[in-house]
Amino acid sequence: MERVIVVGGGLAGVRAVEALRARGFEGALTLVAGEPHRPYDRPPLSKAVLAGDTDDTTVAADFGALRCEALLGVRATGLTPSPDGGGTLATDGGALPFDGLVIATGAAPVTLPGDGRQHVLRTIEDARALRAGLVPGARVVIVGAGWIGAEVATAAATKGCAVTVVEAGDTPLASVLGPEVGARTAAWYAEAGVELRTGVTVAAVGPGGLALADGGRIDADVVLTGVGVRPSTGWLDGSGVDVERGVVTDAALRVSIGGAARSDIVAVGDCAAWWSGRYGRRLLVEHWDTALNAPDTAAATLLGQDAAYDAVPYFWSEQFGRMVQYAGLHDAGSRRIDRGDPGGPSWSVAWLTGDRLDAILTVDRPRDLVQAKRVMASGTPVDAAALADPAVPVREAVLK
Ligand SMILES: Cc1cc2nc3c(=O)[nH]c(=O)nc-3n(C[C@H](O)[C@H](O)[C@H](O)COP(=O)(O)OP(=O)(O)OC[C@H]3O[C@@H](n4cnc5c(N)ncnc54)[C@H](O)[C@@H]3O)c2cc1C
Repeated sequence: MERVIVVGGGLAGVRAVEALRARGFEGALTLVAGEPHRPYDRPPLSKAVLAGDTDDTTVAADFGALRCEALLGVRATGLTPSPDGGGTLATDGGALPFDGLVIATGAAPVTLPGDGRQHVLRTIEDARALRAGLVPGARVVIVGAGWIGAEVATAAATKGCAVTVVEAGDTPLASVLGPEVGARTAAWYAEAGVELRTGVTVAAVGPGGLALADGGRIDADVVLTGVGVRPSTGWLDGSGVDVERGVVTDAALRVSIGGAARSDIVAVGDCAAWWSGRYGRRLLVEHWDTALNAPDTAAATLLGQDAAYDAVPYFWSEQFGRMVQYAGLHDAGSRRIDRGDPGGPSWSVAWLTGDRLDAILTVDRPRDLVQAKRVMASGTPVDAAALADPAVPVREAVLK
């Protein structure tokens, strides 16, 4: 393999470049990065950047030392894989041949219908534009009480804006945490002076505010749409690469064409739907931890080394002065165990199937998170009664 191209200059892309060199790849390496910036971190955009504490979240990476040609502001527009390996990447800067390809084009925000101005929050430009509108007294209306919505509400309330959050579900975060646990976070909005309106469907963003599905209207100076993202895979149309909700991969992160795995093309990060042996299904995890760690597997696979990515999914969110963390994966069938008083300042919730820990949510209990993640990774059975006692460390709640 002489020429490897990494498409997408986000965290997953830059980590793939580093991992390829760390694993001994000596050939030509090119990063095709659609944004005009060096790769930067996104989690601070809704936190420190909106708060005005920083304006630069560039990831430390020395492209010279990595011997990587970084084509900033160049977008991939198409892909023609050769039947016998390798292929050609079409870009708006010309065609690039490759022997190996890493697809790391991430995801882009979903927007609502309507011709009114709606902010989204994905890029540093988005964050700066939104920040400029967060002035005292501004009527800021946020659509979606998800992770991004809650973080933007936190920043806007801190800046003295009049904040309303509109959520179609009956509680915040119902799809991730279930309605009962999601409902516990509603109090955080009220405490911060943020008006949370649940069960409200937005029809369109018009000039000066939202048109609601029930015919109502909410006036706004600033509208932020935080209703989720879609994997950026449009440029793969016609390439033959299998795409369902994201780029379909196996556990080694190899993409497939017509169901047949290609060892020379891998996909990673927010754009990839990878096969998890742990969960027996495909996962599309749009979180930082996956973009940070999965590229090492992608690089190993590309270099013909045996590897599989099968980490316990993990993410965090900082909202209303709380550190909220979740690890694992649970569904409506999992048994819920409360750890600590959910009305108190710090508590956790664990979900179990039988005596196996499926997932944990922690609110200002980072030790629970770290220990539970280890328990999940090892698959050790747990004692539900011990787990329900917040005085017992999670690591001591395992069945010996
Ligand atoms: C505001 C915000 C806050 C977040 N906070 C948290 C958090 O607190 N905790 C957490 O776990 N996760 C958080 N995340 C999620 C985390 O940042 C993402 O999971 C991570 O950025 C994914 O990295 P990625 O490299 O896969 O994709 P991206 O970061 O989306 O990078 C993909 C890059 O590819 C480029 N690209 C797309 N198409 C093309 C093309 N055709 N050609 C060339 N380049 C292309 C894009 O422009 C982009 O630069 C947050 C995300 C956002 C937006």
